Amino acid sequence: MTLHKGSCLCGAVAFTIKGDLQAFFLCHCSRCRKVSGSAHAANLFAPDATITWESGEKNARIYSHPETRFGRSFCCECGGALPRKAADGKSLVIPAGCLDTPVEINPTAHIFTASRANWDHDLETVPMYDELPK
Ligand SMILES: [Zn+2]
Ligand SMILES: [Zn+2]
Repeated sequence: MTLHKGSCLCGAVAFTIKGDLQAFFLCHCSRCRKVSGSAHAANLFAPDATITWESGEKNARIYSHPETRFGRSFCCECGGALPRKAADGKSLVIPAGCLDTPVEINPTAHIFTASRANWDHDLETVPMYDELPK
């Protein structure tokens, strides 16, 4: 049984997840691009995991997109992504970036690549810097 710890950006919300991470999807759909502001979301799925809120649970907000199964959870103070129950009510969906402990699985797949951003291609050929370039 794996333990993962995570928190939001401002630190108000902290949580512990008990259970194994079973899938890791990089979703390029337009909704995930809107809420992440980036090329894709990076969500872990843990079907049998449980979450314990260590602090700040009252800061957690859930947005459910009307007439869809799409939703997200975030800290109302900093906007940082937080885990939530999937639409099926069972699986825990964990935005990978909110975890403070290492993720032991590699991404399973890119999904919804048909709706990827027009600039989202050949990214491995773009120059890389360890920090902000001078
Ligand atoms: Zn926060
Ligand atoms: Zn998506």
